[in-house]
Amino acid sequence: MSQIFEQLMPYLEKHMALQTALALFDWDDATLAPKEAGEQTAKVIGILAEEDFLCLTNPEVKKILEKFEAKEGEEKEQAIIRKIKKSLRKTEAIPKEEKRAYAELQSKSQKAWQKAKKENDFSIFAPYLKEIIAYNKKFASYGSTKEQTGYDVLLDNYEETFPVEVLDIFFDKLKKELIPLLQKIQKQPQIEDSFLHQKYEIEKQKEFNRFLAEYIGFNFNRGVMAESEHPFTTSWHNHDVRITTHYYEENLASAIFSTIHESGHAIYEQGIEDQYTQTILGEGASCGIHESQSRFMENMIGRSRAFWVPIYGKLVELFPKQLKEVSLDQFVAAINRVQADEIRTEADELTYCLHIMVRYELEKLMINGEVEVEELPRLWNEKYQEYLGITPENDTVGILQDVHWSMGSMGYFPSYALGNAFAAQIYAKMQKEINVEEELSKGNIKAIREFLHQHVHQYGAFKEAREILKETTKEEFNPDYFIIYLKEKYKKLYGIS
Ligand code: ZN
Repeated sequence: MSQIFEQLMPYLEKHMALQTALALFDWDDATLAPKEAGEQTAKVIGILAEEDFLCLTNPEVKKILEKFEAKEGEEKEQAIIRKIKKSLRKTEAIPKEEKRAYAELQSKSQKAWQKAKKENDFSIFAPYLKEIIAYNKKFASYGSTKEQTGYDVLLDNYEETFPVEVLDIFFDKLKKELIPLLQKIQKQPQIEDSFLHQKYEIEKQKEFNRFLAEYIGFNFNRGVMAESEHPFTTSWHNHDVRITTHYYEENLASAIFSTIHESGHAIYEQGIEDQYTQTILGEGASCGIHESQSRFMENMIGRSRAFWVPIYGKLVELFPKQLKEVSLDQFVAAINRVQADEIRTEADELTYCLHIMVRYELEKLMINGEVEVEELPRLWNEKYQEYLGITPENDTVGILQDVHWSMGSMGYFPSYALGNAFAAQIYAKMQKEINVEEELSKGNIKAIREFLHQHVHQYGAFKEAREILKETTKEEFNPDYFIIYLKEKYKKLYGIS
């Protein structure tokens, strides 16, 4: 370890410890904390968060960073310094008072959004959204550089090097290729899936989902699985990764695919090398790469026929009354059914990115100041009609469905769509090296997991998203793989020539 880096270590260790504590509170809040704990626990969280902020913005840290020359130390140290410098540049670009005022706004805005959603009344949320947009525009201007201005600055917070210029091309392709495909599918006879919506005992679902997580590689000696309203993954290091799922008695597939999705995230976190875990590099390379790993497991693997060949019998054994008359092929068709619907989080694999596209286009308008907040619900509904062929019944299941804008997370949504495209590109490359179908049919997921571990998981955030994609696939980002994958799969499923 270089001498300068050694001076930095106590600050980094403290930052890591405080981040771990904060993540533990988040986990607890979503899973076990009693309803009335909120306000008092928030006080503790506030103190810890402030301490964490002071730790990295300490003038001593700044001095050390300035002393650190670009080529000094090992590669790992350089990567850590680069990451800290960037995050400090972003943090310090915003004046303290504005940051505090914004934090207050975020908390009020989320409450207003909840109320608006509950009462189906966009006008309750609109004034807060206006302020959120104003702040984000201001923050974007503080963070802008010669190469990066406006919405691009916000996008960069979640996915570096994927600005509007790249995303416009990506979404245009999706629009051109996927909307006509969806329209053809909507003219075909619909796939029968009512058997997935009978009564499935929760206890038995739990047993199956635990088996499933382990089957695809979630290590229960280094992880925990619990329940929460919205499934998520969190981790404090590679030996403690937590996932949640949510069970519905009348929806068998919901928990199954949440479990596979979150396990995909978790296997990534559990696979990060020891030398990176508990450092600032002990996380995913980017939001998009993280999502690529969960969506890969959920869709490319978990919804394939081959995946279910060795394990469908076990599911039928648990639920004989519900599934004994349902063949493997019927089951696989049902879990891949395409249905344009209002809610993004319940969307199928094909329509999912169209939901994201609506949000991306609206965010662009908001940050560019090209739309009045009052017009947004109408625009939302028009875009749903144009892209998905449906008009949301009301704003609760329309523009008010997602929490993101109320939290101020502008620029986040596109990383979800990118994750799907990254997954398809990695999948195409994997298929050249591994006979995925054959391995899955034999119940050998290890071969697939090892490919991901070797190319993606082990590095954590040591490598950047584009680097990982290029080194894994020997190619720059190419959204065509995603489109080809979807077209092939869904044309076959719906018998479209
Ligand atoms: Zn995810």
